[in-house]
Amino acid sequence: MQGCLFCKIGKGEISSQKIYEDAHSFAFLDINPCALGHIMVIPKIHSETILDLPNKEIEPFFSAVKKVAAMIHKALNPDGFTMGINHGSVSGQTIEHLHFHIIPRWKGDKGGSIHSVVHNPPKERLEEIAKKIRNLL
Ligand code: 5GP
Ligand code: ZN
Repeated sequence: MQGCLFCKIGKGEISSQKIYEDAHSFAFLDINPCALGHIMVIPKIHSETILDLPNKEIEPFFSAVKKVAAMIHKALNPDGFTMGINHGSVSGQTIEHLHFHIIPRWKGDKGGSIHSVVHNPPKERLEEIAKKIRNLL
């Protein structure tokens, strides 16, 4: 998409510290890293969120995520990872092109788990919530 920063990075029109590239995906260092080796994987095709990514692009995208995680694991030997997507501005998405964060974690790095991101437990019972979602299938 014209004007999209991550489309331009994916095409090499804007420079980045490239880590990995194939026909569908591109991975590069986050310019403002949360940790050593904080990398983002993006699809080359413009999609704002995972829900917009065409089905045929899903497998190549997650294969690239796995490849890049394995590369970081080998190169930097972290104790673990936090991986995820900020989906929508409410969750902190600032660039409207899907990007998957891979953040290496080390013991004692003072970071939290995914459970530390949101504190908004539901009032409904789990059975009601599950039914509401299942009914759409
Ligand atoms: P979000 O908050 O949208 O999930 O993450 C966007 C990320 O993109 C941020 O972590 C930010 O540091 C990174 N970022 C923004 N602009 C650039 C850029 O021009 N180059 C690189 N490498 N990363 C960027
Ligand atoms: Zn884009």
